[in-house]
Amino acid sequence: MLLIPCPHCGPRDHSEFRYGGDASKKRPAHGTADAKLWHDHVFLFDNPKGAHKEYWQHVLGCRQWMVVERDTVTQAISAARPARDGTAHA
Ligand SMILES: [Zn+2]
Repeated sequence: MLLIPCPHCGPRDHSEFRYGGDASKKRPAHGTADAKLWHDHVFLFDNPKGAHKEYWQHVLGCRQWMVVERDTVTQAISAARPARDGTAHA
């Protein structure tokens, strides 16, 4: 069982959350018309081993999006903060 520490609700089972993708990817600038850039952003993913930043939404709780720092090997979560803080790429 994976417990995700929601910054608003506290620790909850991962079944209450929806995975939202890699939070370390930078979205192309608004208005960018380069199709290859968007294709790569939407469809190409890394498969990291170790520490990783991910978007998760607490769909069965507060419905807020958050950035969770999770080790993909040990499943240990070192941090979780609201995504609206804008610190995903910090
Ligand atoms: Zn929550």
